[in-house]
Amino acid sequence: MAKDYYEILGVKRNATKEEIKKSYKQLAKQYHPDINKDSGSSEKFKEINEAASVLGDDEKRAQYDRYGDADAFKKASGFSGFDPSQAGFDFSDFASFDFGDIFDRFFGGSPFGGSRGGRQNRRYEQSGADLRYDLSIALEEAAHGAEKDISIPRNEACDKCSGSGAKSPSDIAQCPDCSGSGIMRRTQRTPFGLFSTQTTCRKCSGEGRYIKEECAHCDGTGVVHSKKNIKVKIPPGAEEGTNLRITGGGEAGERGGPAGDLYIVIHMKKHPVFTREGDDIYAKMSIPFSVAALGGEVEVSTIDGKATLKIPPGTQSNTIFRMRGKGIPYLHNHGSGDENIEVVIDVPKSLSKKQKKLLEDFAKEDKKGFLGKVFG
Ligand SMILES: [Zn+2]
Ligand SMILES: [Zn+2]
Repeated sequence: MAKDYYEILGVKRNATKEEIKKSYKQLAKQYHPDINKDSGSSEKFKEINEAASVLGDDEKRAQYDRYGDADAFKKASGFSGFDPSQAGFDFSDFASFDFGDIFDRFFGGSPFGGSRGGRQNRRYEQSGADLRYDLSIALEEAAHGAEKDISIPRNEACDKCSGSGAKSPSDIAQCPDCSGSGIMRRTQRTPFGLFSTQTTCRKCSGEGRYIKEECAHCDGTGVVHSKKNIKVKIPPGAEEGTNLRITGGGEAGERGGPAGDLYIVIHMKKHPVFTREGDDIYAKMSIPFSVAALGGEVEVSTIDGKATLKIPPGTQSNTIFRMRGKGIPYLHNHGSGDENIEVVIDVPKSLSKKQKKLLEDFAKEDKKGFLGKVFG
C-alpha cells in the first residue's frame, strides 16, 4: 500500500500550509526518537519529515497531488525521500532546533533545490544579516526622548560597484544555460503523460546571471566592511529592554540583496537620585524637623527640574508624597507616571545655644514627649 502524505500528517487534502505546519510540529515532537522510545517511532518520524518536506513545498505538493501517492511521485520526480543530513538539519540534538523553523525551510525549499516560495524574483540576492546594538541611556533621555549618534560596524554596499559585485555593469551577464531564470526545466514523457521537473541551474547556482569580472574592491561580494554613523531617535518613555527596529539598518545584502534590519536594545543607566519602577520614579529627600512639625514648602527635584512640595504639619519620617504626572511619559499612550518622594526627617547634629534653649522649653511644654520623660 502506497503512502499518502496527507494521511501521514493527518490533514485534509485541501489543508492550508498553516494547518500542515501545525500538524507537522505536533507529530514531529510526538515521534522524535529522543522523546519517543517506542520501536518504530524513528521510522514514523522519518515519514513525517518526508511528508512535510513535500507538502510544505508548493511545487512538490502540486506534483504530488498529480500522482496522489508517494511511490508514483517519487518515481516521477526523482525525489529520493527525506535525508536530514543532506538538508542541513541536525536531528541529533532535540533541544537545539525548532520544528517550526525546520518547516519554514521546507517552504523555502532551498535545501532541495527548486523554488523559494514568494521570493522568486530576487532568487540570486542574499539578504544582509540583522544587527543588534545595545544602547545605554540616562533616565532624563528616557523621560524626554533623545536623539543619539551611534556608530555601527557593519557591511555596506560597495560604492565602487554599487553593490553589484561586478567590475563594471557590462561584466554582469545573463546565464546562458537557464536564460537568467536560475532554474533548469526538464520535460519527461511518462506513462501518466508529460512531466516536467525543475532543478537549480548548475552554471549560475540559481543566480540567473554570472559576473565576468569581479569588482576588486569587494572581491565580487558587493559589500565592504565599514562603520556607519546613525542617528537614533529614542522615544519618550523608552525603558530597559525597549527594542527599536530600524528597517534596512543591518548588514547590506550580497550583490545588491536587501539589507537586514538593525535592532537597538535600550538599557537604562543608574540615576544618582531617582530609581524607576515602570513609569513611576522614586526619590528620598530629607526635610528639617521643624518643617515636618510645623508644615511648609520644600524644593524637590523632578525629572523636569525643580518643583515645590507642600509638607503638611505633623509629617512623620518615611511618609511618601506622590506628585502626579511627574514620572516618565507612557511609551504608547498620553500621560505620565508619578514621582514618589519619601521624606526623611533630618535631626540636627549640633545646636546653637539659642536652639538648645528653645528645644528645652519645647520639651518642658511637651509633657508627653520623649525628652520630658527622660528628664522627669
Ligand atoms: Zn543559470
Ligand atoms: Zn565592489
